[in-house]
Amino acid sequence: MTSQRTRDRLINRLRDQGIQDESVLDVMRNTPRHIFIDEALSHRAYEDTALPIGYNQTISQPFIVAKMTEVLLSERPLQKVLEVGTGSGYQTSILAPLVGQLYSVERIKPLQDRARERLKLIGLNNVQFKHTDGGMGWSSKAPYDGILAACAPESVPEELKQQLAIGGRLIIPVGGSDSQKLNLVVRLSEDEFSTEILDCVKFVPLLSGTVR
Ligand code: SAH
Repeated sequence: MTSQRTRDRLINRLRDQGIQDESVLDVMRNTPRHIFIDEALSHRAYEDTALPIGYNQTISQPFIVAKMTEVLLSERPLQKVLEVGTGSGYQTSILAPLVGQLYSVERIKPLQDRARERLKLIGLNNVQFKHTDGGMGWSSKAPYDGILAACAPESVPEELKQQLAIGGRLIIPVGGSDSQKLNLVVRLSEDEFSTEILDCVKFVPLLSGTVR
């Protein structure tokens, strides 16, 4: 079930659905998604679907991970990137090989601890983690060339926009539980931003505060 053939099938499916960036597809082909979920569900690891990871959270659907990564990387190589919502660490492990330095924040400590161990296991060492409310970003490491949020606020947090470098890109689901839109916000200058709506999506909500 975790054979190369099963994984290749997922990659072909992503390609059929429009993912074109071969570097993204390559990283996804080589990343063992089954280590990011409970053993009881690992037989479903290479299905293109979100799955529960405990604490009412889910590992993101592979297509969405691929799409968000592709959009974030589409203009130029990214040196510093912030991820909001580490979760299982799966999206983290897809982004990390494709960027210079990745900063990842998560509000639920046990999830982040497990994600950190998994990334160590697969040998990724350009990621720094912080247990914090990511709606506020991670200001001491800003500015970022890219920010990717895996949880949905009701509107784009001003703090995240302000932590973008000029030319930086923020990809974030926005909206309530029944209708969310994937937004791409680009910082054009110190105080000008463009916003493009890419897709209808379904993410867990961005919640405030932290859980130990
Ligand atoms: N991409 C992740 C998906 C994680 S689900 C994966 O592939 O596993 C979204 C995550 O965002 C959850 O773990 C949730 O706890 C986290 N989250 C929600 N609100 C947050 C906030 N304000 N700050 C940081 N993380 C948050």
